[in-house]
Amino acid sequence: MLQVYPVLCRKGYMDNYAYVVVDEATKVTAVIDPSEAEAVIAKCEDLGLRPQFVLNTHHHFDHVDGNADIKQKYGAKIVCNAADAYRIENSEILLKPGEYFVLGASRAKIMDVSAHTKGHILYYFADDKILFTGDTLFNLCVGGLFEGSACDMFKALAKIKALPDDVVFYPGHEYTMGGARFAFEYNHGNDDIKKYLIRAKERLAQGLPVAPVSLGEEKKCNPYLEAATLEDFERL
Ligand code: ZN
Ligand code: FE
Repeated sequence: MLQVYPVLCRKGYMDNYAYVVVDEATKVTAVIDPSEAEAVIAKCEDLGLRPQFVLNTHHHFDHVDGNADIKQKYGAKIVCNAADAYRIENSEILLKPGEYFVLGASRAKIMDVSAHTKGHILYYFADDKILFTGDTLFNLCVGGLFEGSACDMFKALAKIKALPDDVVFYPGHEYTMGGARFAFEYNHGNDDIKKYLIRAKERLAQGLPVAPVSLGEEKKCNPYLEAATLEDFERL
């Protein structure tokens, strides 16, 4: 069983989420995409957890800036796509897409979704039905194309769409309301998007992330997942 604790970082500026993830059976802990060290370390201290790993989805500064301090404080090993090792400092556990990262009694499959950046990976804990999507899939929108094409993103999203509907995802940023109006219009204000937005607003009003949302819900409401063909996707 995996326990996930979101940590909002760079609040009101970039609204990044880092995640402290704990394998409950063994208490082996990792931090995903520590945007900054301070907020993440405070969360770990609160929870009484010492992360042994830092998992990065991609090399952008707002996902790796906390790496060094967390490594220094806890001796955590930095994990990333082998293809990104040259641009993620001090990375030492280098994974290839298709391989698994083992966290205590849990494990995550590494999925390549090169599009936002080349070598961007997802961590998919299939047994726990949990997916960390970095800057590839956000609530109601997707990541910008820094190093890939629309075709690359369409293919990356197809891999996510192929996962079971009851998998929930945790994105790298809180961007829900930014995508809300477009998603509402795209879906002609139907019941699914209304329900999605009511829940999202309630969560945000309580100071909670909109995540986790199931891929099933997201597929019904996120225009970028709804696009059935590359032509449809490119028109968005
Ligand atoms: Zn990014
Ligand atoms: Fe980012």
